[in-house]
Amino acid sequence: MNRPEHIRLLGVSIPLIVSSSKSVDPEEEVYGVWDPNDMSITINPECEPVQERVTVMHELVHAIDDFLYLEMTHQEVYILSQVLYQVLIDNPQLTDYLMFVPASTPKKTSFASSVASVRQTDWEATKAKGRPKPPTKRCR
Ligand SMILES: [Zn+2]
Repeated sequence: MNRPEHIRLLGVSIPLIVSSSKSVDPEEEVYGVWDPNDMSITINPECEPVQERVTVMHELVHAIDDFLYLEMTHQEVYILSQVLYQVLIDNPQLTDYLMFVPASTPKKTSFASSVASVRQTDWEATKAKGRPKPPTKRCR
């Protein structure tokens, strides 16, 4: 399966980049980076295939956390991303089931529209509301 170039999250197209350029310290083993500045996910090209996929899930949970101001700890992000990935691995037909809906049924959930009022990716506007821009997460 080809790696997608973008991941759509709450109306935002997040580039999925494979590069070692976002690692601060070349000696530091960073698997992935969620960068709220340019709203991108960067994966270290040295990752093994499974590690890469787990890392994509992990950085995606960071993005969800930031978009929705869940204020999760890094431990919570780690655990949730690992569990979500494992559920998908343990239930290979789950994705097909979740994606299959009769053609006449809208695929969007009620959450998809209501979240538009919650989602705030304009970090400057967010700052004005007293919430600082979330920091970049470099994950090992
Ligand atoms: Zn992380």
